[in-house]
Amino acid sequence: MHTGALASALRDIVGSDGVIDHPDALSVYDCDGYTLERSAPDLVVLPRTPAEVAAVVCRLWTAGVPFVPRGAGTGLSGGTLPVHAPVMVCTSRLTAIEAVDVRNRRARVQAGVINASITRAVERHGLLYAPDPSSQPACTIGGNVAENSGGPHTLKYGVTTNHVLGVELVLSSGQIVELGGPVEDRLGYDLTGIVVGSEGTLGIVTRAWVRLVRAPQAVRTLLAVFETVEAASEAVSAIIGAGLVPAALEMMDRLIITAVEEAFHVGLPTDAGAVLLVELDGPSAGLDDELARVTAICRRRGVREVRVARDDAERAALWKCRKRAFGAVGRLARNYCTQDGVVPRTRVPDILRTITGVAERYRLRIGNVFHAGDGNIHPILLFDERDHDEVARVLAAGKEILEACVALGGSVTGEHGIGVEKIAQMPLLFSPDDLREMLRVRAVFDPDRRANPHKIFPDALVCVEARAPRRQVPL
Ligand SMILES: Cc1cc2nc3c(=O)[nH]c(=O)nc-3n(C[C@H](O)[C@H](O)[C@H](O)COP(=O)(O)OP(=O)(O)OC[C@H]3O[C@@H](n4cnc5c(N)ncnc54)[C@H](O)[C@@H]3O)c2cc1C
Repeated sequence: MHTGALASALRDIVGSDGVIDHPDALSVYDCDGYTLERSAPDLVVLPRTPAEVAAVVCRLWTAGVPFVPRGAGTGLSGGTLPVHAPVMVCTSRLTAIEAVDVRNRRARVQAGVINASITRAVERHGLLYAPDPSSQPACTIGGNVAENSGGPHTLKYGVTTNHVLGVELVLSSGQIVELGGPVEDRLGYDLTGIVVGSEGTLGIVTRAWVRLVRAPQAVRTLLAVFETVEAASEAVSAIIGAGLVPAALEMMDRLIITAVEEAFHVGLPTDAGAVLLVELDGPSAGLDDELARVTAICRRRGVREVRVARDDAERAALWKCRKRAFGAVGRLARNYCTQDGVVPRTRVPDILRTITGVAERYRLRIGNVFHAGDGNIHPILLFDERDHDEVARVLAAGKEILEACVALGGSVTGEHGIGVEKIAQMPLLFSPDDLREMLRVRAVFDPDRRANPHKIFPDALVCVEARAPRRQVPL
């Protein structure tokens, strides 16, 4: 079907302001947070209701047109990059929190609801939505479900899959299915669990039932300053090894500390090798004992200084540094690429040494800000996209870091997904048979691979013509 005719048919469903087809406006949608590859869709559709999503997808099905779902576009693995999917269906207008069940601690929200708005809507009841990606002021629940997102506080509370009870999914045929629901411990296969983390390849999530948790009675937040990343990493292992389960255990190295301090001026020590941000929460009785134990462990690992936040304002300032660290890095370089890998917690010092070596060999600046408590590393590789040699070095360095994660017994993604970025790394973890079995699961939902095609799986396995996205950074 001609693009103009398709746009007109889609406008009949979503109204004239619900379809974007002007090239300038489309260029806004040519990448997500992974900016190394770009490809604008031919059309962006912005439905306002789940029913409109279903009608749009049904129309695309009839026209034989593949599509790519998009929430807020904060993804970091190129999941929203259109690759042979001319139409982008954006859920950002589906913003209703439809139901809050305070007594049973759950809520039904539309896919475009911003993560942080859920907690804002329920905090007066003493509740919160626990998964808290650092992008939470912008990212959507649909995107969180698709990526099985984590965040600083998922060390104690678990990632998105632990907090989603059910979803409404629009299949690529336009059919609406409900998987799971508000009731806990449902019988049968965990189909909700299959959708969580499926990166938009099974259809478009339009609603989710999410679990709410009781806000902790008390919180203690401390910043531990270390001379070296090794000492900080050893403290992380020792804290967990002592049986303590902090709500969050985050690390920033010197490059990141400097960027954050220059941006926010909160008095972070820019000469330190690394800082740990540790948060303890729970019943107030016993929390100060836990704080004392963490402090003692840090002292045994040679901590230079331990600062305990004295009030909510100081706590908020520390979290601002951590959660806006990515933004602060924008001051250091024109572009940056956030890698995402996992190693067993005890191997954090090893992977950090590897990253230092990689940075030297590839002549790159790499900062580290990450969820140290669960071994989920986020090296941030700085570059200038106009320098093609540097871009090539960033890609090669990222690949080497991920291979090192796997060699240390870890994985190539902790929370940002495979998208287009890490397709080539899938065979490091999965055999061709594993991948084929996953594709058979996908085929149950989306037999013709119309939903977010060419993501996650190496193209050789899906037996399609492998072509690069239409516009790529030349390497
Ligand atoms: C500054 C910054 C900090 C971040 N911090 C974290 C962090 O701490 N933890 C973490 O896990 N991630 C983090 N991220 C990554 C990102 O925010 C998450 O992956 C987030 O869940 C993406 O949500 P989104 O709405 O922006 O999705 P998008 O980027 O729009 O889409 C991401 C993927 O989900 C699919 N998708 C989107 N909506 C739907 C839907 N309704 N149905 C089906 N598929 C859909 C898309 O096709 C794509 O594959 C961070 C990103 C940035 C820029």
